[in-house]
Amino acid sequence: MSPNALDKTAPAAQISTLQPPPRLLFGPGPGQVHARVYEAMKQPIVGHLDPYFFKVTNEVQEMLRVVFGTKNELVFVISGTGSGGMETAVSNFVEPGSKVAVMANGYFSDRMTEMAKRQGAQIARLEKPWGEVIGDDEAAAFIRRERPQVVMYVQAETSTGAFQEGKAICAAAHDAGAIVIADTVTSLGAMPVKVDETGIDVAYSCSQKGLSLPPGLAPITISPRAAERLQARKTPNSSWYFDLKLLHDYYGARKYHHTASASLLYAMHEALLLIMEEGAENRWERHRRSHLQFVKGVEAMGLQMHVAEGHRIFNLNTVRVPAGVDDAKVRSALFNDGIEIAGGFGPLAGKIFRIGVMGPLATEGNVSLFLQHFGKALQAVGYQRAACACATR
Ligand code: PLP
Repeated sequence: MSPNALDKTAPAAQISTLQPPPRLLFGPGPGQVHARVYEAMKQPIVGHLDPYFFKVTNEVQEMLRVVFGTKNELVFVISGTGSGGMETAVSNFVEPGSKVAVMANGYFSDRMTEMAKRQGAQIARLEKPWGEVIGDDEAAAFIRRERPQVVMYVQAETSTGAFQEGKAICAAAHDAGAIVIADTVTSLGAMPVKVDETGIDVAYSCSQKGLSLPPGLAPITISPRAAERLQARKTPNSSWYFDLKLLHDYYGARKYHHTASASLLYAMHEALLLIMEEGAENRWERHRRSHLQFVKGVEAMGLQMHVAEGHRIFNLNTVRVPAGVDDAKVRSALFNDGIEIAGGFGPLAGKIFRIGVMGPLATEGNVSLFLQHFGKALQAVGYQRAACACATR
C-alpha cells in the first residue's frame, strides 16, 4: 500500500488535536473572550428542556434586560449569529407589501434593506455617506413624508464606526404609527443601548462583540407595542426557525422548538454575570475611557479618526489610512505580531482601519500595548509620524 493510500484511510493519523494560535482580537469582532467564559463552556451540558437549562435562560433574560436598558417582558436569545437576530427582527415585523423606511449609512443598513426586500416590502431609504449619521430633523421629515409601517436603523454601524442616536427617529416613527427596529449588534454590552429611553421597539444583537463571548447567539428584545403588532400579523412568518410566536412558546411554555446550545448559553450567562459584577455603567465607562485613550494615541501619531467627534462608537474605532500607506501591509505586520485588526470595505475599502477595543481588551494597558504595535507597524511600511504614543492617556 502506498503512503498516499494510507493517508486516505487513516486521516486521524495526520490530524492532531486543536491548538489555536494565540491572538489579540482588536478587530470589529469576534472580540477577546474572558477566561471565565471559556471555563463556563467546559461545564457538562444538560438537555434543552431540563429545569437547570430553564434556570440558566431565565437568568440570562434577566441580565439581558439590564444591558439592553429595558423592562420589556419579551427578551429571547436566538440560536444564530447577529444576522440571525436581524433576520428574526425583519421576518417577524416586515410583512409582504408593507412599507419600510431605512436609515441607510453603512453596510449593515444595506443588509437590513436586503432582508426587508426579500420579505416583499416596499423600501424607502434615507441615504448618507458612510461614516455620517442622520440628523434628528431630516430623519423626522423623512418618516413623516414616507409614512412607513416599520423604520430601521443601525445604532452602531461597524462598517463605518458611527453611532446613530435614535430618540428622534423613534418619536417620529411612533407619531407615524410605525415601529422601530434597531441593530445593536456592536453596541450591546460595551455602550449604553437604552432601548426603553430611546423608544426602540425591536433591538437585536450578537454574542461576539460587546458581550465578549464566542459567536453563535443573538439576543433580541421586543416592546409591548411590537408584541401587539406581532399578534395582529395577518400572514405567518415565512421563516419557521425565526418565528417569534413559536419561540415565545419555547421560552414561555417550554415547548420544544429546537435544540439550543447549552454550552453557548453557559457562555452567555458567565459573560453577562461578569458585566453584572463589574456594573454595567462601569463597563460602559471603561469602554469610553479606553476609546478616549485610543483616540488621543492615534491623533498623537498624526492620524485622523474617520467619524466626527461625538458620533463615534466607543468599542469600534475607525482610523483613516494615511496617504501613501498600504493598509493591507499594516494589517499583515500586526497579524505577524499576533494582533488582528480589520480594514474597511465597500466605499471605505483601503481608506480606514477598523480597530475594536472591547471586553477584556478595553484597559489602559492593552490600549497602550496596541498603540505601540500599531505605531511600529505603520513605521515599518514607511509612515513617518508614527511616534510611539503608548504613554498617552
Ligand atoms: N449588524 C452589525 C452592525 C454587525 O456589525 C454585524 C457583524 O459584524 C452584523 C449585523 C451581523 O452579525 P453576524 O456576523 O454575527 O451575523
